[in-house]
Amino acid sequence: MYEFAVTPAVTNIRRRGVEISEVTPDSLGAEMDLESGDRIIKVNGRVVRDYLDFRFHTAGETELLLEVRKKSGEDWEVELERAEGEDFGLAFEQIVPRQCANECIFCFCNGNPADARPSLFIKDEDVRLSFLYGNYTTLTSITEDEMRRIVEQRLSPQYVSVHATDLDVRAYLLGIDKERADISKKLARLIEAGIEVHAQVVLCPGINDKEVLTKTIRDLAAEYPRITSVAIVPLGLTRYNTDARLTRVTPEFCREVIDQVGVIQKELRAQIGTNFALLGDEIYLRAGRRIPGRSHYGDYPQIEDGVGMVRSFKNEFGKLVRRLERENRATNKSGTIFTGTLFAPVLKEMIDELNERFQTNLVVEPLENGYFGGDVSVAGLLTGQDLLSARDRVMGSFVCIPKQMLKSDEAIMLDGMKISDVSRALGQPVHAVNLQELGTLLLNKN
Ligand code: SF4
Repeated sequence: MYEFAVTPAVTNIRRRGVEISEVTPDSLGAEMDLESGDRIIKVNGRVVRDYLDFRFHTAGETELLLEVRKKSGEDWEVELERAEGEDFGLAFEQIVPRQCANECIFCFCNGNPADARPSLFIKDEDVRLSFLYGNYTTLTSITEDEMRRIVEQRLSPQYVSVHATDLDVRAYLLGIDKERADISKKLARLIEAGIEVHAQVVLCPGINDKEVLTKTIRDLAAEYPRITSVAIVPLGLTRYNTDARLTRVTPEFCREVIDQVGVIQKELRAQIGTNFALLGDEIYLRAGRRIPGRSHYGDYPQIEDGVGMVRSFKNEFGKLVRRLERENRATNKSGTIFTGTLFAPVLKEMIDELNERFQTNLVVEPLENGYFGGDVSVAGLLTGQDLLSARDRVMGSFVCIPKQMLKSDEAIMLDGMKISDVSRALGQPVHAVNLQELGTLLLNKN
C-alpha cells in the first residue's frame, strides 16, 4: 500500500545531498570513514538529490570523488577506488515524496478518519516512488526536470493512473481542468523514450465505466507493448467518503464489468496476444465469480495493485501443501488466522483442506474493518483495534495476521497499535505472516 513507501519521510525537511543512514562494518564506506548522518552532496562533480542519483552517478564508476558534508558540519572530499560493481556498504535515508496537486473525487485521503495519523494524508505523486515501489502517478504536475530524469536515469517502469482517456471524464475525476488533465504528450514522450508504462483505472460506477472504460482500454491497448498493461480496480469507499458524486461498487456492477471486459480481453488476445486489461481481484471476489487461471495474468504486471494476487496465492498455497506433505510435520497445530472479509472465504476453503490432510486445527476468521468501515474489506487496511474487537473469536495457541497489516519497516498497524500490544491483549503470540512464513510456522515443532 502507498503509505509504506512514504511514511518515514513525512517530517523531513529537504536538504542538500542524501543522508547516509547506515554504514556496513568493514565495507568500502566504513574504510572511507563515512558515518550515518553524513550527507553525500556530489559524486564526481554531479549533484546528488537522493539515493537514486547516488546509484546513477556511481554506476559503472571505479574512481570516485565524493563531496561529503559530515554530520559534524565539516566538508570532506573523499577519493576512492573500487572494483567494478563493488558495493559501498551504505544505506540511505528514504526519499521525501513530492505531493500531488489534484483533487480527485475518490482520493483515499477523503476516506480517512479525521484523527488518522498524518502519514495517511500524504498525497504522493512522485515518479521516483513509481519506479521504486510501483506507486501510481497521474503525470499531471510532472516537471520538465522529472521528465528528463526518468528518461536519463531509465526510471522504468512507470505506473500511471489514467482512469479515463476521455479528457472530460479524466478532468472531472481528478478535479482539475482539461488542460492539466491531458497527459497525451507526456505519455507519448515517455513511451517514445522506451520507458515501460503500466496504466491504472480506478473504476467509479456511472463515471468512467461502460463505453468510457471500453474506450480507455482500446486507446491504451493501441500503444501496446509500449504501454504494457492496464489494471482496473474498483472504487473503495470508507464510511467517511460522503461525496454524492460517488456510487458504491456492487456485486452486480462487478459482474457487468467482468462480462464487458471479458469481451475486450478476448479481442485483444486475438489481436495482440495478451489480455492487456486486467481486473482487480476484488472485482471477481465481489462478483462471486471464479478467479482466472495463472495464464490470464501473464507475468503478473500489476500484482501489487491487487491484480492476480489471489491466483498467485492459490498457486503458492499448492506448493505449501506439497512441502508439508514432504516434511509431514504440520500436525496438531491449532490457531486462528485473521484476514479481510473479502479474502476470508477463499482462504477458508484452502485452510479447510489443509486441516483435513494434516490434522491441523486452523480457523480462518473474517475481520470486519471497523476503523474505515464502508466497503473496505481488504486485509491491508485492517487495524489493531479491529483485531481486539474480535478477541472472543481467537482459538488455539497462536494468531496469524496478514503481513500487509503492518508497516513495511516496523511492526506497527495503521491505527498506530504495535503487534506486541495486540499480542498482550489477546493473550496469544501474534504472527504477521506471508504464505511462506505461515508454512514455516506450521513446520516448526513447537
Ligand atoms: S492523485 Fe488523486 S487520489 Fe492520488 S493522492 Fe492525488 S488527489 Fe489523491
